[in-house]
Amino acid sequence: TKQNEDTYDFLYKIVLVGDSGVGKSNLLTRFCRNEFTLAGKTTVGVEFATKSVQIDGKTIKSQIWDTAGQERFLAITTAYYHGAVGALLIYDLANESTFESLDKWLEEIHEQAEKGIVIMLVGNKLDLEEKRVIPTEKGKKLAQEHNLAFIETSALDSTNVELAFQTLVSQIYEMKK
Ligand code: GDP
Ligand code: MG
Repeated sequence: TKQNEDTYDFLYKIVLVGDSGVGKSNLLTRFCRNEFTLAGKTTVGVEFATKSVQIDGKTIKSQIWDTAGQERFLAITTAYYHGAVGALLIYDLANESTFESLDKWLEEIHEQAEKGIVIMLVGNKLDLEEKRVIPTEKGKKLAQEHNLAFIETSALDSTNVELAFQTLVSQIYEMKK
């Protein structure tokens, strides 16, 4: 049967969190529209984009929220986190300081978001292997310490982008059903 855009069984709000420049906006556009914006261009922040995935025969629509650059000033508002059931916590595996910021972001998520929010740690820019400064093991270890799922992605060449969102949505679904 033909699926109407607005027909879904569940609607999940998911937020993208992490330092400026880690690839939040590009992960969003890659997943929702299969688009990538080249280096140097500033991405215009959309409020959110949506995409539906099938899990267990159910249509789950994700409303994925992106920042408009306000993360630079640590000025993400409570409204951003309000009602979010999932978060992708993103760092750039070729940029040490974005990894060092993760504790701060985790603290903020736990302060601002609802209890029980499902968080997945994402090391982005996997295509920059030769510039990597954060070994996979280091990401994995942090994820284990905080009981988070973990994945490495590339918004540039699409590696694991679908899998990241699909895994997060599955985890939320498992938790909620
Ligand atoms: P945001 O500030 O977290 O939203 O990050 P953006 O999505 O705007 O990306 C910041 C910069 O990193 C841009 O120049 C992108 O082209 C680049 N970028 C984003 N994702 C990737 C990726 O997976 N690989 C590479 N090589 N560059 C990326
Ligand atoms: Mg952005």
